[in-house]
Amino acid sequence: MTDAPTIFERIIAREIPADVVYEDDRIIAFRDIKPQAPVHLLVVPKTAAYPDVAALAAADPELLAAVVAVAKRLAGELSDGDYRLVFNSGANAGQTVFHVHAHVLAGGLAEGTLG
Ligand code: AMP
Repeated sequence: MTDAPTIFERIIAREIPADVVYEDDRIIAFRDIKPQAPVHLLVVPKTAAYPDVAALAAADPELLAAVVAVAKRLAGELSDGDYRLVFNSGANAGQTVFHVHAHVLAGGLAEGTLG
């Protein structure tokens, strides 16, 4: 038995809509439906093999590096180039979708805060 697809797999398959801002053969990026910053993007490897960033880093560090490069590029294209990168890892850290993704937060973030 296979697990049900996550919401991100359904976005990647175009089964549900998303505001896609970037896509290549391995990575998709779209705007978070519940933004926590003026610019709030999700950068998502298309593979569903990795539930979190540590699993991705261990198995495919080059793909993780590509996720970071896309995050930087989009922060420059869609905001002022400064950004915060967040990988929630585990339910007690706020992770709700267990398909690795980077939150890219940008656009007037307060200095010295993490929230
Ligand atoms: P996390 O809580 O780190 O697992 O992040 C999951 C993120 O996915 C949350 O910030 C949600 O707001 C976002 N999200 C959930 N469903 C959608 C959707 N259909 N389109 C865009 N973002 C979504």
